[in-house]
Amino acid sequence: MDNLMNKIVSLAKRRGFVFPSSEIYGGFGSCYDFGPLGTEMKNNVKDAWRKEMTRNQESVVPLDSAILMSPKIWQASGHLTAGFADELVECKKCHRRFRKDFLEGDKCPDCGGELTEPRKFNLMMKTFIGPVQEEGSEAYLRAETCQGIYVNFNNILNSMRLKIPFGVAQIGKAFRNEITPGNFIYRTREFEQMEMQWFCRPETADKFFEYWLESRLKWYSSLGIKKENIRTKEVPKDELAHYARRAVDIEYKFPFGWQEIEGVHNRGDWDLSNHAKNSKQDLQYYDEEKKEKYFPHVIETSVGADRSFLAFLIDSYHEVKGGRTKTTESAKEEEVMLKLHKSLAPVKVAVLPLVKNKPELVKKAKEIFQMIKPELSAQYDEIGSIGRRYRRQDEIGTLFAVTVDFDTLENNDVTLRDRDTMSQERVKVADLLSVIKEKLNV
Ligand code: ATP
Repeated sequence: MDNLMNKIVSLAKRRGFVFPSSEIYGGFGSCYDFGPLGTEMKNNVKDAWRKEMTRNQESVVPLDSAILMSPKIWQASGHLTAGFADELVECKKCHRRFRKDFLEGDKCPDCGGELTEPRKFNLMMKTFIGPVQEEGSEAYLRAETCQGIYVNFNNILNSMRLKIPFGVAQIGKAFRNEITPGNFIYRTREFEQMEMQWFCRPETADKFFEYWLESRLKWYSSLGIKKENIRTKEVPKDELAHYARRAVDIEYKFPFGWQEIEGVHNRGDWDLSNHAKNSKQDLQYYDEEKKEKYFPHVIETSVGADRSFLAFLIDSYHEVKGGRTKTTESAKEEEVMLKLHKSLAPVKVAVLPLVKNKPELVKKAKEIFQMIKPELSAQYDEIGSIGRRYRRQDEIGTLFAVTVDFDTLENNDVTLRDRDTMSQERVKVADLLSVIKEKLNV
C-alpha cells in the first residue's frame, strides 16, 4: 500500500477511527469497525449529508427502509439477473480472481498466467429467513438502499401529500459480495450508502440531473475537500449500469488513484415501471392539473458514507515538519494534524488542566469538561506535557483546546486555543460555551 495510505490506516487504528474487524480472531476479510472517534466522525458525515439533502432542499423527505426485503424486489430491479453481475476471470496458474473491467491486459497481473473466459458473478449476498434453510426461505441483504425508496413510492406520496418533483433521502447499510474488496474502507462487502432519489417529470430529468450534480459537488467543497482533488467523469454509454440512462461519477484523488466516491444517475423510469409490472400495482403518478398519468423519472445521487469518510480523512491529513507546537520532542519529528472541517471533526473541544498534580486545577478542569460535554463532543486529557497534549488533539483534528491554569483559579477564565490558527485567547468560563458555539456556528 502507498505510504500515505499506510499512515492513514495506522492513524485510524491508533486513534480509534477504524479498526480491522474481528481482530482478536485474526481479522475477517475486508471488514472494518468504526472506533469511538470514527463513529463520531461518520455520524458527522451522515448528519452533514442529511442536513444538506433534506433540510436545505425544498422537497426532500427521509426514509429508513429495511435491509431485508422481498426477493421479488431484486428480481424486478434486475439485480438477480445478469444486470448486477461483475465479469470475473480466474488465473489458471495462481488461481487469483480479478474483475475483468479492472484488468488492462489479458494475462494475470500477478504471475502473468493465462486467464479463464469471463464468468458472471452475482454480487447479491444471500441469507435465509426463518429456521429452515430451504429454497422458499431465501432472501438477500440489500445491495443498494434505493430499492426501499421505489417500493414505498405510493406510501410516501400519499402519506406526505407530495407533488412531483420531490425527493426521498435514505442512509443505510448495503452489502455486495465484491470480488476484489480493498484499499482499506474504500471497497468493502458491507458499507453504508447515502442515497437520494428525485422523482420528476420525464422532460425535466436532464435539467435536474445538472442541478443535483452541481449541488453534490458544492457539498464536497463546502466541507473542505480541495478543489484539485475532486473531478467528474461522464460514464461512457457502453459502461452504464443496467438501469442508467446517464451517469456521472464524482471522483476523488485517493493515494491509490482517481476513484469514484459518488454517482449521479438518471435512472429514467426503469425502477418504478419494473416494480409496477412485477407487483401489478399502479405506481404511476397522477398530475391533477394536467390530468395526466405517467411514471416519474428518477435522478439519483448515491454516495458511500465510508468512502466519503475516507476521502475527508485523507484530504484533511497534514504533516508539519519540525513541529507546530515546538515541544522538544516535536522539533525532530513531523507533527500530524487533521484539518477536518468543523462540522466533521469528531472532537470539538479538549479540556486540559495545565498540570495534573494540582487538585484544584484538575477539579476546575473537570467541572468545565462536564459543562461542555452535554453540548459538544469533548475530551478531557491530563496526561503528559501540555505541548504533547496539543499534538495529540491536533492529530485527531480537535478544533479547540481549553487550558485551565493557575490564573483560572483567580480570574475564572481559560485559554482557548484554535487548531488552525494556533491563536490563544483568554475567555471567561461563563462565556466559554457560547464563544465556542459561535465559532462553530451551531
Ligand atoms: P464501483 O464501480 O466502485 O464498484 P459502483 O459504480 O458499483 O461502484 P454504485 O452502485 O453507483 O457504485 O454505488 C454508489 C456509491 O456507493 C459508490 O459511489 C460508493 O461510494 C458506494 N459503494 C459502492 N460499492 C461500495 C463498496 N463495495 N464499498 C464501499 N462503498 C461502496
